[in-house]
Amino acid sequence: MSGCCGNKRSEINKAEAGCSVKTACGSNAGIPKQEGPLAYFQDQVSHGLKYAEFCKERGAKIVGIMCEFTPRELIMAAGGVPVCLCGGSGEMVEPAERVLPSNLCSLIKSTFGYSLEKANPFLEMADLIVAETTCDGKKKMYELLADRHKMHVLELPQKPEDTDAFEHWVAEMNKLKSVLEKQFVTTITDGKLRSAIAVMNRERALKRDLAALMKSSNPPLTGRELLGMKSTVAGMPGDLEQYEQALRMLPGRALNPQANSRVRVLLTGVPLPRGAERVMDIIEDNGGLVVCQENCTGVKPVLDDIDADAPDLIRAIAAKYYHLPCSVMTPNKGRMELLGKLSQEYKAQCVIELVWRTCITYDVESSLVKRLAEDELNLPYLRIETDYSPSDSARIALRVQSLFETVGGRESSMGEAMKERCHG
Ligand code: SF4
Ligand code: SF4
Repeated sequence: MSGCCGNKRSEINKAEAGCSVKTACGSNAGIPKQEGPLAYFQDQVSHGLKYAEFCKERGAKIVGIMCEFTPRELIMAAGGVPVCLCGGSGEMVEPAERVLPSNLCSLIKSTFGYSLEKANPFLEMADLIVAETTCDGKKKMYELLADRHKMHVLELPQKPEDTDAFEHWVAEMNKLKSVLEKQFVTTITDGKLRSAIAVMNRERALKRDLAALMKSSNPPLTGRELLGMKSTVAGMPGDLEQYEQALRMLPGRALNPQANSRVRVLLTGVPLPRGAERVMDIIEDNGGLVVCQENCTGVKPVLDDIDADAPDLIRAIAAKYYHLPCSVMTPNKGRMELLGKLSQEYKAQCVIELVWRTCITYDVESSLVKRLAEDELNLPYLRIETDYSPSDSARIALRVQSLFETVGGRESSMGEAMKERCHG
């Protein structure tokens, strides 16, 4: 497979291997030093940065993205390298609050703080940012980002069941295609789109397979380790090789304490960008194992592929991205269906929902998720509302422990009932 700009694999590997650049875009503090692919992903930001610099030096365009609605394939077909700019660092919140209101979600503030501080090298090297109208805070922040960075904002319709709305999204895809062709002086052909679709389908399939390891009754990795295995740069060859290696190495690995002694958690809600994994750590430090993350840093964006043989590739790309069940959509029935399916596939014993403080859409929708978990799935539910500050960690830990006690109590009364049924 070729890389960003048709370079040979050996050249790309050299660029990724010699990487020692440290960036401020998140950390792996809290997880012990690992080996093999897990170690590689602990330094993934450095690998990604080296790769992005390598591609840019050879004429590729760096395109910043901040959401799972962004069609990576169109950017790649235009010779662009999509890099994620979502901020997960609490340190970037304070500088952002000099401009943005404090009652805004940490993810938005952190992302913007990086721009003010010029502290995200991916953002500083970006030739273009492609964003979309999702939540109000993000879309207004983009106007301020546009002071320093070239932006294109896609208008995301928010009624997933409405045919007219989908047609508008297809039109937005065609508009983005023209913008990319003009700005990068290129032509996006069907052949280039097919190659990009093949790369991203492969990346999604590998991530699905890794996530599926957690379906086991004794998973070989923690949810935190799986969360750490994410790519800052979409379709990066070195990452794909590491995903493959992980799939060869991880089955059969044993966790200590054994994974089957922990409470199986389905985590839903907002994404956890690199550096903002605190709640995941609290869950797993208190006896839980996050077997499935339904959110945008989990399985949600990798469940659907794109048909590379579709007669209209732009429509096929539009369809894949439009049907992402994010809370900015109304109604967002797809998320409830997905949660029901995932809770069964991953044998979840409880549902934990994470909401970044002031995230209105996930917060309002949380009452529907609670109802689904408790009334339909018969699973205990906990909603955690927090931000990037660690000040409430002890309180969150207590609530998680209490949830796990409830799960433990239910499991033992179910065990007793089974015994009675067998003996009586
Ligand atoms: S949660 Fe919604 S707005 Fe946030 S990254 Fe995912 S799709 Fe985009
Ligand atoms: S977490 Fe909520 S408020 Fe924050 S960027 Fe995502 S959708 Fe917007």
